[in-house]
Amino acid sequence: MVKMRDWVEEINERARTKLGIGRVADYIPALAERDANKFGIAICTNEGEIYAAGDALEPFSIQSISKVFLLTLSLRVYGNALWERVGLNPSGMPFNSLTQLEAERGKPRNPFINAGAIVVADRLVSAFATPSKHLQDVARKLSGNESILIDRRVLESEWQHRSRNAAMAYLMKAFDNIDNDVDHVLHSYFSCCSLSMSCIDLAIALNYLAADGHAHATGEPFIAPDLARRINSIMVTSGMYDAAGDFAYRVGLPAKSGVGGGIVAIVPGKFSVCAWSPALDENGNSVAAQYALELLASEMDARLGR
Ligand code: GLU
Repeated sequence: MVKMRDWVEEINERARTKLGIGRVADYIPALAERDANKFGIAICTNEGEIYAAGDALEPFSIQSISKVFLLTLSLRVYGNALWERVGLNPSGMPFNSLTQLEAERGKPRNPFINAGAIVVADRLVSAFATPSKHLQDVARKLSGNESILIDRRVLESEWQHRSRNAAMAYLMKAFDNIDNDVDHVLHSYFSCCSLSMSCIDLAIALNYLAADGHAHATGEPFIAPDLARRINSIMVTSGMYDAAGDFAYRVGLPAKSGVGGGIVAIVPGKFSVCAWSPALDENGNSVAAQYALELLASEMDARLGR
């Protein structure tokens, strides 16, 4: 589709005008080394066409985008019982906040803040011998890219600087909301965050959320349509850190962001998209990637027809 190809190219050029705004995450030192002048975007339609521009083939640290995979895998194993361990509401707090956890007796507000994802990782440690290996295999299968790796440098860097996440995990353990050894759970969680994937990999891998749970690369159902709809809802309310409300107003799509600068967004029934650029705003969301998704959402009907 020529007009789609041109449009994605245009978004790439326009989003690049935002390069130079924001700051690359540095609380995980290995992430700070990324070149802030990178920008990539990829769309995977439900028919399986890929439209990509810029640095869309370059792998980056998926960070919190892994929370979508963690949640999906955990819901596949535990179903609604998962919600006894983690809540479903926006937190209104930074993604690594400790204050609510103490007040709410170790039950994190939702699976997309760090505490929530650590609880979900604990559930997966109970279910699988090596959850991060399992998640890597799933990411490979869903994207059709067998070369996806866990970045050992990023993993080591996260491990060295784990104090805050460790504090959350121990607090939750004290409230009996973590069943397994805390170090093991944290290591699994960091390994998942340290997966390196490109915009193209992520757009393809998460297309099941746009396609009623059907995985494009395997050609098979991955989750039930109802579950895909529910995961999209949690992405709307909690996928963009503390700026989920602003993003919902400006873009209006289910999305999940990571401090590596990637954002995946879903247009249910149509396509999945991933935009990436390392420099972040004060909420931890990529400046250029958000702008690209804003352009995409506001022009979608006019450019593609309803
Ligand atoms: N691995 C990061 C952390 O735990 C994930 C942060 C993010 O992308 O939100 O701090």
